[in-house]
Amino acid sequence: MIVILLGPPGAGKGTQAAALVKRYGIPHVSTGDIFRANLAEKTPLGLEAKGYMEKGALVPDDLVVRLIGDRLSQSDAAKGALLDGFPRTTAQAQALEAFLDKESKKVAACLLLEVDDQELLKRLTGRRVCRSCGSGWHVAFSPPPSDLVCPKCRGEIYQRTDDSQETIKNRLKVYHEQTSPLIDWYKAKGILKAVNGLGEPSQIEAAIAKALG
Ligand code: AMP
Repeated sequence: MIVILLGPPGAGKGTQAAALVKRYGIPHVSTGDIFRANLAEKTPLGLEAKGYMEKGALVPDDLVVRLIGDRLSQSDAAKGALLDGFPRTTAQAQALEAFLDKESKKVAACLLLEVDDQELLKRLTGRRVCRSCGSGWHVAFSPPPSDLVCPKCRGEIYQRTDDSQETIKNRLKVYHEQTSPLIDWYKAKGILKAVNGLGEPSQIEAAIAKALG
């Protein structure tokens, strides 16, 4: 089962992904997480992605498509995957479809988390995340521990470099211009499930469960 989590940066895709992977027993595949891990390790892939990520721009399609093809070919993804942050362009969606066609697989659902830009700006500027497990906090709404040590995994809690005001504005612009056309793309295929991303994570989780059936 391939499920896509679609939505602007800060919509809560990572938070909801954690609940969904538990529920469906499929791996969470976040292209952003994969790029950040590669960047931390200074791999050629990470170094190639670095400049784009720092500007809030998209990494070129061919690089992302190759990466996702490799990831979906791993054994843990044989029964499916939860795709978070991919596809982000129509070209990526077409490449995913071609890849899945070859394996007689299909995207089961595209879950859209809807949140307005003003709320996204508030969420992203105050966001703090664990470098190791990806857990999230917000300086105003859910402050991290003062020692900035993750209580779940002892990892370091930090602010992503692309969560600065300027970069966030660019990421939102990129989302509206390059990624939001995917809403109509998946709607036309009859598999788009839109969920309001405002509210408590548990409420949103329940709305997602209902939408996915
Ligand atoms: P995210 O953690 O999903 O917000 O991704 C962080 C950054 O990684 C994005 O701003 C892009 O620079 C890059 N990235 C992640 N996924 C993709 C993708 N599917 N296509 C292009 N760039 C991506």
